[in-house]
Amino acid sequence: MTRRWTITSLLLLLIYVCSRSANAQTQIPEQTNTIDLEAALPEPRAYIPDSQYLDFVYHNHEELTRFLRATSARYPNLTALYSIGKSIQGRELWVLVVSSSPYEHMLGKPDVKYVGNIHGNEPVGRELLLHLIQYLVSSYETDQYVKWLLDNTRIHIMPSMNPDGYAVSKEGTCDGGQGRYNARGFDLNRNFPDYFKQNNKRGQPETDAVKDWISKIQFVLSGSLHGGALVASYPYDNTPNARRLKGICRSSALCAMFQTYSAAPSLTPDDDVFKHLSLVYAKNHAKMSRGVACKSATPAFENGITNGAAWYPLTGGMQDYQYVWYGCMEVTLEISCCKYPPAYELRKYWEDNQLSMIKFLAEAHRGVQGFVFDNNNNPIERASLKIKGRDVGFQTTKHGEFWRILLPGYYKLEVFAEGFAPREIEFVVVEQHPTLLNVTLTPSKRTEGSLPISQLYRPVPGPPPHLYRPPTPGYSGDSGLFSSITSGLNNLYSNLFG
Ligand SMILES: [Zn+2]
Repeated sequence: MTRRWTITSLLLLLIYVCSRSANAQTQIPEQTNTIDLEAALPEPRAYIPDSQYLDFVYHNHEELTRFLRATSARYPNLTALYSIGKSIQGRELWVLVVSSSPYEHMLGKPDVKYVGNIHGNEPVGRELLLHLIQYLVSSYETDQYVKWLLDNTRIHIMPSMNPDGYAVSKEGTCDGGQGRYNARGFDLNRNFPDYFKQNNKRGQPETDAVKDWISKIQFVLSGSLHGGALVASYPYDNTPNARRLKGICRSSALCAMFQTYSAAPSLTPDDDVFKHLSLVYAKNHAKMSRGVACKSATPAFENGITNGAAWYPLTGGMQDYQYVWYGCMEVTLEISCCKYPPAYELRKYWEDNQLSMIKFLAEAHRGVQGFVFDNNNNPIERASLKIKGRDVGFQTTKHGEFWRILLPGYYKLEVFAEGFAPREIEFVVVEQHPTLLNVTLTPSKRTEGSLPISQLYRPVPGPPPHLYRPPTPGYSGDSGLFSSITSGLNNLYSNLFG
C-alpha cells in the first residue's frame, strides 16, 4: 500500500515537474488586456463637416499644404506634420500624424497609415484623407470610438504620394492615364522592388521617399487609396504564374493576353488575415460589399474584395513590397468607379467611406503584440519573428516591440536574434482583444562549429532590398517580346480599371 502510494506520488511529481518545465519552455503568458475593448465602444458618430475649415472641393497642393499646416497649428496635441521628401517638381510629400501622442512614440502602440493619390489622377482618396484628418481631430473630445483609436494608435496620413501627377489631372475625367504617372512618366505603383520578378524600373524620388519612410517606422497596417474601381484588393499583386504557360507560348500575343486575363490568385501565407481586412473595409462601406461591377465591361467582385493577382497581376506594386520586406499588411482600396469625379460627388464618397476608414485602422488591435527582451530586460532590436507556418516574417522595433494581425486561433511564434537562443512560444488569439506576449531571450552558448543564427534562418523582411533579395518561388523571369506585350497589356488594363 505504502509502496504503491510512493510510486503514485513519484509519478505525480514527475508529471508536475514535466509540466512546469514544458511551461518554462513554451511559457504561455497571461493574456490580459491593457487597452479599452473596442467591442465595448459605441460606433463612431457621423462627421459633420465644417466648411469653415474644410469643404467638399478638390484642394490643389498649396491649399492642401495650408490645410495641413493650419490643422497642425490648431491641434498641436493631436497632430504632427512632417514631410518624407519631395516630388520631382519639388512638392513636399506631406504626412500628418494624428494621435493623442503625435510627437512621441507610444510604447507598445502600433503605427498605421493611409497613403492617397499614388496615381495622380485618382484624387478621391486624397480629399477623403483630408476629411478623415478633420473628422479625427474634431471628434476626439466628443466621440469615444475616435478617442480610443487615437489614444491607442498613431495614424500617419499621406494625402498625396504623387502631387505632380495630380497637378496635371483633370476633374471629371473618369478613365485614362493623364496625371497617373509622376513628372518623369513613371507609374509609382510599379516602381517598388518585387518579390516575384526583377523590377528594372529606375527608382523615383517619390518611391524612394516611401521606401525610406517605411524602413524607419514599423507600420503594422496600411491602406493605399485608388480610384477607377470599387474593391478592396489584397496581396499578392504579382505572381510566379508564368511558369505554367512558359513552355506553351513564349512570344505569342494571344498567350500573353490569356495570361493577363485568366490570372490565377497569388495568395500569401496570411491570406485569411488579408481577406478579413479587405472584408472589414468592404462591409463597412455603403456599397463595396455588394460587388456590383462599375460598368458592364468591368469585373464584379464577390463581397467587394479580390486578390490582386487574380484581378490582374502587376510587378513593382507598393503593397507586396511592404508586406514581404517589412511585414506591413497593406490593402489597395479602390474607392471610386470614376477616377476623378466632379467635386459635388465628394460628400457622397465621404459618407460611403467614413466608417470603413475608421474600422479598417482599428484592425491593428487584433492578433498578437508584445516585446522581446534579453535577460536584463533590455529590448532586443531587429529580432526576427515569424508565426509558424506563415513564412513572411517581421521584426522588432528599437524598443523591442512587435505586432502581428491574426484571426482567433492557436499559434506558435518563432523568435530569433543574433547571439541568443531561438525560441518558440505558443499562444492563443481571441476575438475580443489582442494577446500580449513578452518574450525573453537568453544568450546562446557558443559551441565550436555551430552556425550563427543568420545562417540558420534568413528572415524575409531582412536587410534593405539592395543587399538582400528574398528567395523567389522558383521563377526565372520572362523576357523579350512576351514580357513587353504582357506589361503593355497590364498597363492598358490598369489604366482602365486601377
Ligand atoms: Zn490607382
